[in-house]
Formats: sequence, C-alpha cells, structure tokens
Amino acid sequence: MAESQAADLNAPVVGMDYHMHVQYHEVLCPVMREFADALMDKRLIGHKCPQCGLIYSPPKGYCPICVVPTDKSHELELQQRGTVTNYTIVTPVQYHGQEETDRFAKASLQLDGGGTLSLQDLLEIPVDDVRIGLRVEAVWASDAERNVDEVTNRSWGIGESAIRGWQPTGEPDVPADELPTNVF
Ligand SMILES: [Zn+2]
Repeated sequence: MAESQAADLNAPVVGMDYHMHVQYHEVLCPVMREFADALMDKRLIGHKCPQCGLIYSPPKGYCPICVVPTDKSHELELQQRGTVTNYTIVTPVQYHGQEETDRFAKASLQLDGGGTLSLQDLLEIPVDDVRIGLRVEAVWASDAERNVDEVTNRSWGIGESAIRGWQPTGEPDVPADELPTNVF
C-alpha cells in the first residue's frame, strides 16, 4: 500500500452487523465411526487403556494419560446405567441464536462396570433436584429419530440425537465417598 493510502490508525473503528451460516461436513476417523455405528445399534462402547485401566468413551484410539495407543482389541461395551458424579447447572444467556430458555443441567456420569461420560443431559428430574450420587439410566432416541449427526472427531459427549439423556432409576443415591474421583 502506498504511503498516501495508508490507513489512518487513529480513525474510529467502523463495525457492521453480519449474520452468516457455515456448515461443516466431517468424515469420522475409524475409531469414532465404530463408536457412532454402535450408538445406532443402541450400544455404548469404549476403549480400556492397557496400562492404567481407565475406560474412554467415546474411544480416542489412545490413552491421553499414559500416551499409549488403543485399538479394537481394547474395546468393550459399557453398561447403560450409572451414577452422577458431578454436574453443572447452566442458565442460558439470551444471545442471538440461543435456543435454550430454561435452566438445565449437564452431568458427568460413572457407568456401572466402568467408564465415564461427560456433558450428559438429565431427563425427568427438576434441575434443583439434580445431585451427586443420583442413579440414572440411558434413554435412547427412538429408532426413527436416532442419528449420530452430532458425533464429531472431537466429541467427548454423545449427542442428544442418539441418547436423549439419562433418567433417574429410583434406586437409592450412592454416597459421595463411594464414588471415584477420576474425571475420565
Ligand atoms: Zn492409560
């Protein structure tokens, strides 16, 4: 740019409103493809690290703690019942595009038999009744509605279009001191 055309750095910044829509299509890597296919069969799979024994679902193809690869030989099917180990209550801010209006909870779960899930929706329970130790079970989307469009290579969650959420089983709560303290 010629010196005579140089921008005036002291000029006030001019802004404009601009709404755009960007849609990404992503090919799932093999390990996430298997996870997504299992969801369509109403199965929840994970990989068990051969070194530390932690179970990752969705499987990542490696244990990020031990830095060892995992593959089909480390796959196992997880149970669809578990316990709330942590939760966050979200109060939606009404920014442009926000579709949520009511408070909702996102929960971390410890599944029976091993494995954890994060960012799970809880169903059939008022937000103020959500608590650590709550026993829950998976509620799958119907065959007609179930899809894995929300599963991406970066997923740590599942997507509400496969498992709609988790509902209380009615079993007694698990005491907090009996719950594991690991995140994964
Ligand atoms: Zn490990």
